Amino acid sequence: MTRESAAAPGLREPASRNPIVAGNWKMNGDHAFVERYVASLREADLPSAVELVLCPPTCYLSALARADLAIGIGGQDVHWLDAGPCTGSVAARMIRDCGATWSIVGHSERRIGLSESDEMVADKVDAALRAGLRVIVCVGETLAEREAGSAETVVLRQLDTVLARVPEAALAQIAVAYEPVWAIGTGRTATPEVAQAMHALVRARLIEMNAESAMSVCILYGGSVTPENARLLAREQDIDGALVGGASLDPGDFLRIAGAFAERATGALQSRAAGA
Ligand code: PEP
Repeated sequence: MTRESAAAPGLREPASRNPIVAGNWKMNGDHAFVERYVASLREADLPSAVELVLCPPTCYLSALARADLAIGIGGQDVHWLDAGPCTGSVAARMIRDCGATWSIVGHSERRIGLSESDEMVADKVDAALRAGLRVIVCVGETLAEREAGSAETVVLRQLDTVLARVPEAALAQIAVAYEPVWAIGTGRTATPEVAQAMHALVRARLIEMNAESAMSVCILYGGSVTPENARLLAREQDIDGALVGGASLDPGDFLRIAGAFAERATGALQSRAAGA
């Protein structure tokens, strides 16, 4: 299928996808934090129209899973091997054993900070899928790459390396997070228009792989998402949720962000493409 036909009206209705809002706690929190967070979520009305996922540090996965909230639990990374001499690493099946049903893979803090190559990320996605996890695959360009005009090339290269390892039947098990590196933890969010353009690019590539499954893959935006900007981002046709770092450390903010996407899912917030 061509890029042009990928944009055909009717094929890209956001309503066919339940939004996902995932919180990446990164290397923050402790057991007391987990307890306070769980208590806040128990008191709150969790939006049923949005799939919530929390990704704590690995050592708190079990504690969060034991709380048995109606949310997904995710790791922040997995190793590409199932077992072996990899000191300090954690296999996908291990985080599954701790109660995770998801994992983030390919976060830029690991791609850049820990020199993870596209191939390593693809191997990790493969390992996570083998272990029965759903995967949030992160892609995104640096500021230098955007300024050099290569944002699209970089994102498609990162995505294609992963997609080459994902069987068509497993496409529904992944979500893609477009996270421009220049927006992560900087307070500088991509404008909804810039984000939507990149999400449409990702969607077109997924459609080339399998048009039907591609429509159910959530493409999340990540990069300084706040309750304020979430309502604008959620109006875009291909922004199906968010991967939230800093703001996810506050359960109130996290739920307000989820609320913005719940409004979109229930139709209370019309997508821009629908002419609202
Ligand atoms: C992230 O780490 O995935 C992220 C998007 O962080 P922040 O929301 O803090 O920019």
